[in-house]
Amino acid sequence: MNCNGCLEKLDLYLDRELTDAELGDVRGHLERCPPCEHRYLLLAGMKRLVKVCCDQGAAPSHLRQKLVQILF
Ligand SMILES: [Zn+2]
Repeated sequence: MNCNGCLEKLDLYLDRELTDAELGDVRGHLERCPPCEHRYLLLAGMKRLVKVCCDQGAAPSHLRQKLVQILF
């Protein structure tokens, strides 16, 4: 798996919406590739924040936009 393939699947990986084989591929790449692991950690943090906001009933779109700007 290369970085592009990994980044494409990162969102699905975070949501555990991949097959076991794909999960293994992404996990293996993240272990070998610090830049992708960094992106993964940022995305995971963003998802956690958005989830916290949702749970509290606050609209997350503003926060999500800010985070997306930082990430991309
Ligand atoms: Zn990579």
